[in-house]
Amino acid sequence: MHELSYITRLVNMALDVSRANGSAPIRKITAEVGAMTGVIPYYLNKYFPEAVESVSDRTNALKDTTLEIISIPVKAHCNTCGAEYEPSRENNYLCPACQSRECRIIAGREFLLRSVELDDAPADTPGATNDSLCRPAAAQK
Ligand SMILES: [Zn+2]
Repeated sequence: MHELSYITRLVNMALDVSRANGSAPIRKITAEVGAMTGVIPYYLNKYFPEAVESVSDRTNALKDTTLEIISIPVKAHCNTCGAEYEPSRENNYLCPACQSRECRIIAGREFLLRSVELDDAPADTPGATNDSLCRPAAAQK
């Protein structure tokens, strides 16, 4: 299951944020997972304790951390008519407005750390929305 490596990456990214803030305890980790990544939120949640366990000898910051996964549906932008739609079997993955197949995927590929809530003040993570940080294609084994 590759979800373990994804969630381990998220945990480590959240720890970096914690460390940059004096190792503040992490209250909540929120991540966005696009439907096209093939990453299943259920397994991210399932492997979360294991990922926490693997770093727990180094830190206590994750003792009371909750994980929230936000699923991002696939969205396409039609190059022919400009419509935005959700490609699905029902619409044959074609643009429902003009039946064109010339589209570009504009959402659904992301795997991002959206925010890390630390114990003191909620902290956003500048730069963490840069999706080159954590692209599924670049995921390590
Ligand atoms: Zn169209």
